[in-house]
Amino acid sequence: MENSQTQQFEFKAEMKQLLHLIIHSLYTHPEIFIRELISNGSDALNKLRFHKLTDSNILSPDLPLSIHIRIDKDAATFSLEDSGIGMTKDELVANIGTIASSGTVSFLEQLKQTPNMDLGQLIGHFGVGFYSVFMVTDEVMIETRHYATDSQGYKWVSRGEDSFTIEEIEREQRGTTISFKLKDEFKQFAEEYAVRNAINKFSNFVDFPIYINDVEVNRVSAIWHKKKEDITDEELNEFYKFISNDYQNPLEHLVLNIEGNINFKAILFIPTTAPTALFRDVSEKSLQLYVNRVFIQDDAKELLPDYLRFVKGVVDCEDLPLNVSREFTQNSPLMQKIKSILVSKILQWLEDIATKSNELYLQIYKNFSSLLKTGINSDYANTSKVTELLRFETSKTNANECVSLKEYSLRMKGDQKDIYYIFGAARELLSNNPNLEYFKKNEIEVLFLTDPVDVFCIPYIHEYDGKHIVSIDKADIQIDEKNADNTINSDSNNTSIISIFKDILGDKVEDVIISKRLVTSPVTLVVGKSGMDPQMEKVMTLLNKDFQASKRILEINPTHPLLQNLERIAKENPKDERLSNAVYQLFESAMLIEGQIKDPNEFVQRMVFFMTDATK
Ligand code: ADP
Repeated sequence: MENSQTQQFEFKAEMKQLLHLIIHSLYTHPEIFIRELISNGSDALNKLRFHKLTDSNILSPDLPLSIHIRIDKDAATFSLEDSGIGMTKDELVANIGTIASSGTVSFLEQLKQTPNMDLGQLIGHFGVGFYSVFMVTDEVMIETRHYATDSQGYKWVSRGEDSFTIEEIEREQRGTTISFKLKDEFKQFAEEYAVRNAINKFSNFVDFPIYINDVEVNRVSAIWHKKKEDITDEELNEFYKFISNDYQNPLEHLVLNIEGNINFKAILFIPTTAPTALFRDVSEKSLQLYVNRVFIQDDAKELLPDYLRFVKGVVDCEDLPLNVSREFTQNSPLMQKIKSILVSKILQWLEDIATKSNELYLQIYKNFSSLLKTGINSDYANTSKVTELLRFETSKTNANECVSLKEYSLRMKGDQKDIYYIFGAARELLSNNPNLEYFKKNEIEVLFLTDPVDVFCIPYIHEYDGKHIVSIDKADIQIDEKNADNTINSDSNNTSIISIFKDILGDKVEDVIISKRLVTSPVTLVVGKSGMDPQMEKVMTLLNKDFQASKRILEINPTHPLLQNLERIAKENPKDERLSNAVYQLFESAMLIEGQIKDPNEFVQRMVFFMTDATK
């Protein structure tokens, strides 16, 4: 029976549809109602905190700012009480009874008239959060009293269908209590563990104490809202472990407080260990998104490009609306703006670490460079910044010692125009690669690229500081004639040795030419002008069975004794079996060095042939 003071109000027509929508889009995450209620409570408390600054006419001024959740497992009841701003009758009708006429708008109007206040921080969350409670209950009661001393208490009751009722009540203290009985299938939310879980997940950093049946449960406060200098390392470590589920302390952290067109706070961490795989592990989380201390997303992929996802942390933005859907964050220009600020801050951070301690930077680099490098050809706006962060072993460094492209450039000799690199599986293999001979002899430094990811990234750098970045496996690299070894032979000699090779190898090679880069080895293979890098081709063959590798150019070293012997044999008897066997063997040996040998059987047979001959 309604008492005589009870007034009935009809919900607007769209309401039913909207409720239906909310309940059905949220059903996989019923615990969201806890987040929404806490968020509203925290919002009401934030507003009260603000009013206290300017208004002395406040009901129960000494009442602490807190949120009390009361649950009764047996009765399956849930209630949440805040000591915040409360609502007048009109506000109850306008805010809770009508969609999209959120009190936020009028609150903002009021705020605008008060200069020197932190507007952003008090911007409420618009949306429809409150109605998510109808997912877990059939009937909701709100008891509230506005913070003004002359206010009156009201009770709002609705089954979330067509209407709600409002009646006057006796209520001593300001604030709002929302209570309901849980539907059978959601009874677990009357149990402490479920409520605690939801708080841990969504609201642990709300900076008002939250109690469950009078026990305080959220000890971790929103540390990113503290002043940078007030945050201790211990707090940061604990916080990092909490959000990342890592058991180790982070290697580095960065506290950001961005103010301007967009306002956000962030705490970022670099973990001590690398993720297990290059490809994203489903359980791996990068940045958590909060809006004004209220948890929004666990892994806000829109906040960071993939190549920086090794960075962990939280971002709390005051200017974003609290919104239950991911759609908003996916399409929001604000998110784009935050992302671009974060990217430039993180790249600068890494640069600063490198300047501060090479050792620390290399530790980070070793763990995350494979990811970081993919930024070269995915984030074109920042390619040059990422390039500055690269480190390489080279033909002149010791193992595990690395240089940046800047250092490499500074070490370049006067007449060196390009930056050289060579790909390969390991340092040892690269050091003995015949293509390196010319560079070793002339003391030209060559970058050793041994990370498989390099194949996909480094060629995209094109140039650094006006210098081209060139693979020494390519045929068209500029080798200074005067430093080369093999041009001393007369042209006629060269022509005949070249035609011996060409006749025997036929279309197995694109061309046979005299090498300028060989010093001690007899032959080597290089890639034609239009060819891909050999390592890249290898990857392509793995990815695509039908991939046709380009033909190689065979470079030969006519000063090598073996080639001179072959030339002699050719003159004596062009049909000599040793001749074709040796040419094939040399070609395939070079293929072997590239790791591309197709038929080891023939290779071994020819070897047996030569050993037999040699041991006659
Ligand atoms: P949102 O919080 O996204 O604006 P809700 O549907 O959750 O949407 O709430 C609508 C409005 O109702 C809020 O903007 C606020 O003005 C008011 N409100 C909700 N809960 C409370 C509360 N605990 N105390 C005071 N006002 C509240």
